Amino acid sequence: MRCDVVIVGAGPAGIFAAMELLHSVPGLKVLLVEKGKDIDERQCPMEAGAPSCVSCPECELVSGWGGAGAYSDGKLTLSPRIGGFLSRYVDDTTLQSLLDYVDNIYRRHGAPGELHGVNEAEIEALKRRAAVYELSFVPSRIRHIGTDRCRKVLRNMRDALIGKVEVLFSTEVLRILAEGGQARGVRLHNGEEIAAEYVILASGRASSQWLENEVRRLHLTLLKNPVDIGVRVEVPAPVLEPLTRITYEPKLLFTSKRFDDRVRTFCVNPYGEVVREHLKGVWTVNGHSYAEKRTDNTNFALLVSTTFTEPFDEPVSYGMYIARLANFLGGGVIVQRLGDLLQGRRSTPERIAKGTVEPTMKDATPGDLSFVLPYRHLSSILEMLEALDAIAPGVNSRHTLLYGVEVKFYSLQLLLTGGLETEIRNLFAVGDGAGVSRGLIQASASGVLASREIAGRYGLP
Ligand SMILES: Cc1cc2nc3c(=O)[nH]c(=O)nc-3n(C[C@H](O)[C@H](O)[C@H](O)COP(=O)(O)OP(=O)(O)OC[C@H]3O[C@@H](n4cnc5c(N)ncnc54)[C@H](O)[C@@H]3O)c2cc1C
Repeated sequence: MRCDVVIVGAGPAGIFAAMELLHSVPGLKVLLVEKGKDIDERQCPMEAGAPSCVSCPECELVSGWGGAGAYSDGKLTLSPRIGGFLSRYVDDTTLQSLLDYVDNIYRRHGAPGELHGVNEAEIEALKRRAAVYELSFVPSRIRHIGTDRCRKVLRNMRDALIGKVEVLFSTEVLRILAEGGQARGVRLHNGEEIAAEYVILASGRASSQWLENEVRRLHLTLLKNPVDIGVRVEVPAPVLEPLTRITYEPKLLFTSKRFDDRVRTFCVNPYGEVVREHLKGVWTVNGHSYAEKRTDNTNFALLVSTTFTEPFDEPVSYGMYIARLANFLGGGVIVQRLGDLLQGRRSTPERIAKGTVEPTMKDATPGDLSFVLPYRHLSSILEMLEALDAIAPGVNSRHTLLYGVEVKFYSLQLLLTGGLETEIRNLFAVGDGAGVSRGLIQASASGVLASREIAGRYGLP
């Protein structure tokens, strides 16, 4: 088979790359290759009633049309400083207009009109209050689609594309083909080769190990990235309301006193639930909230970013190792009451039941996270919980639940041009997998950016 552009992965980055190509270069032959299923066929067995994960060969939560976006909380973070690193590649004005452009496309496909985090006076007051406790508050406007509505939006995008670009579902790309310093296409799992003028890699976070192997094989330059390891915190929703009332996703940064490490809140889910995530045989924890369904709790991640000492250079493996350790000790995700952790004892089902926070993740194993998390990470998390308690009293309660571990494997970072081209001509890398983004809006924007670069080479704007 031959095409003009082959896109690997139909997550937000791949979908937006395809939409932009279609819009700017009429008649271009674009092929999207996706190893998962179409959105209507995607169903996590746990959603259908399975008591626990059955380890599907391709995780239904992160693979298929919409990628990890399909089951995501659908919070579109419209601040250029959150959710990715596109500011490394384009100036602030270009980036903001790119984010607005992408946001408009989401709206055209069904995202709601309401924006959170627009009350300047309240935001300024929160910023000042946080600063007193050594917390930096990063304001951002958020459009909340919600997990339930997110799939509808992605389905609308598929309907707009199908028939105009070719999509191969349940088809995995095994090799990136390049010759003489130029991309030539891809080889599929069945051995078939697809020749293409341009290749856009949009393979997401869950395939970061595959991508890393490929880029090493192709001798592309990898830049160093930290790895983010931490826990998901669950509290009664009113506890976090002083923050979530003002902004849907309160983004707070803290530098730990003992280790000088950066700790941040991530993916806050007001009235949401804690969920498991399956990555290549390893369980990690995540969270989401629905637009039309509420629990009594709010959850958020506290992540510690560390850069490793020389000569170690395998942050992905390190993160996997810590997650595997939690699985090894707890048979999956571990949950612990903060009070138990501070008293140096494990949580048990009885102790969890005595607590005032009812876990929204029912099959987490009560255990002891101090056996899993390195001292460096644990002490930084405890410091941040204390600081947060000053602006949201109750966060540092003994009843607060900690689930572990949450690991963010965005550790791969490729050397890319301003148009997101790799050192191999006509080979582009976008989205979370390339270390360019960490969320829906910037992943989508990165797809647009690469496609605009390609459109430019066809002499089009
Ligand atoms: C539970 C959860 C909640 C989240 N909530 C939010 C949120 O509220 N707001 C937010 O901004 N972000 C959120 N995110 C993150 C967001 O989903 C991602 O940032 C975004 O989906 C990244 O898009 P992407 O296209 O780069 O990668 P992905 O969405 O990961 O898509 C990559 C696609 O490529 C396919 N693929 C991989 N390798 C191959 C291969 N070799 N061959 C063929 N296909 C391949 C995969 O199957 C996948 O479908 C959440 C993520 C999760 C898991």
